[in-house]
Amino acid sequence: MIPGPFYILILVFVGAALLVFAYGLFTTPDGRKRPVKRREQGRKGDQGVCPVCGTVLKNGEQIKSAVFPGNGERLVHIFGCPHCHPFAERDIERKCPVCKKRVAQESYLIARLFERPHKKRHVHILGCMGCRLPKKSKES
Ligand SMILES: [Zn+2]
Ligand SMILES: [Zn+2]
Repeated sequence: MIPGPFYILILVFVGAALLVFAYGLFTTPDGRKRPVKRREQGRKGDQGVCPVCGTVLKNGEQIKSAVFPGNGERLVHIFGCPHCHPFAERDIERKCPVCKKRVAQESYLIARLFERPHKKRHVHILGCMGCRLPKKSKES
């Protein structure tokens, strides 16, 4: 049998799968050493709680977001915390706090950032792409 394109395709696929596996090993050294610890869950919307997966963030853990320029209130795309972005850990669920539907790995929550003088920054979660961006555009 001559190795055809199909055979090569399988090899490439296996190679890709191995790469993903190796990447997983290298990125989660903690999870392999320590026994699985309970992740603290908080109320979404609270300070220091990931609005995507509800994990209480420790010092140094930051929520990945993109803030768009604007004055007064600004649009924010929230991708998640280190526990749910870019790869969700085991038993981590990326869920929209507004519609309770699953938030896809490549998706994000849409929020508004209020910056008022003499007041704390306030982030208001508007929803996910599913519930925030309906098919027909809504005028506001
Ligand atoms: Zn998270
Ligand atoms: Zn939603």
